[in-house]
Amino acid sequence: MATGVMLEFDLIDRIKFHAAKRSDVVIGIGDDCALLAPTSGFQLAITADTLNAGVHFPTETAPFDIGWKALAVNLSDLAAFGARPAWCTLSLSLPDSDLGFIDGFLEGLLLMAARHEVALVGGDTVQGPLSIGITALGLIEPGQALRRDGAQAGDELWVSGTLGDGAAALAQWRDAVPVDHDLRARLDRPTPRVELGRALRGIATSCIDVSDGLLADLTHVCTASGVGAELQLDALPASKALQTAFDAATVRRLQATGGDDYELCFTVPAMYRDRLEMIANETGTPVTRIGRIIEGGRVIVRTDDGGVWMPPSTGFVHFGGGTSAVDRR
Ligand code: ADP
Ligand code: MG
Repeated sequence: MATGVMLEFDLIDRIKFHAAKRSDVVIGIGDDCALLAPTSGFQLAITADTLNAGVHFPTETAPFDIGWKALAVNLSDLAAFGARPAWCTLSLSLPDSDLGFIDGFLEGLLLMAARHEVALVGGDTVQGPLSIGITALGLIEPGQALRRDGAQAGDELWVSGTLGDGAAALAQWRDAVPVDHDLRARLDRPTPRVELGRALRGIATSCIDVSDGLLADLTHVCTASGVGAELQLDALPASKALQTAFDAATVRRLQATGGDDYELCFTVPAMYRDRLEMIANETGTPVTRIGRIIEGGRVIVRTDDGGVWMPPSTGFVHFGGGTSAVDRR
């Protein structure tokens, strides 16, 4: 290893020392493999995401936030699946042995892990451009996963939290204007909606986490489910910070196409509306009804006056080149 053998093992010891323990980890960091004892009767949900410096986060992002986000985006996938997070592995490519970076990074990652009782059970460490690959594993009851292919015409379409904040911070950062503190926090420290995802089991007919932008991710659900969607542009939930920082048209564009939200977008039969409001209260997660599922394969965005909104071609087309793109009538 070009990081130097001593350093590599120092680093692994450091990680091992700080990593949380779980009783279902038979063997954690230190052997050739980790050995896990999943609760019997559960299935394993597995997801992986890689973050590369300069691609998935601005290179000057605080080490703490890089660690936090690297795990948070993986837990967001487990949340969107309805799984309970349990374990993760960490494949770390580091340019050098900057201890300040490593300590901050581990602190952020392990705090996110502790919040969700996730044990870091193994990984790999190499020298190279800064890149963080995480595999997260969770437990799910058989038949209860929140899949992308279950949305039905007539279902109501919901989203958690607010949309557009992360993309707004990125836009300010790219434009080299001062980045709003609250927006930046949403970009750097997303909140995986784990409790909400768990509570949606048996209620939501489909679910996805919004990472590439609402319209792109909703299109994935519609394609998988063989349905379309009609959503109300003016119903999309916006934070105060977003509304303060940008004009109305930009707010809508960021919300519909921006990405980096890590909110859940899900479909629920109308008869569960009261139950959903209860879940929102119990989990402390705001949810907003933004539209409904329709027949056909198109995603149509309506404005308040009943017109059809066209997403500006920059942004969405880049992500949304699927078979059933947003309606362009
Ligand atoms: P091997 O040569 O068998 O792959 P390594 O020297 O890469 O072993 O790793 C030794 C132990 O440390 C293994 O249990 C591995 O899972 C763990 N490990 C290595 N890097 C990391 C990391 N970045 N995070 C967590 N565990 C790690
Ligand atoms: Mg290895």
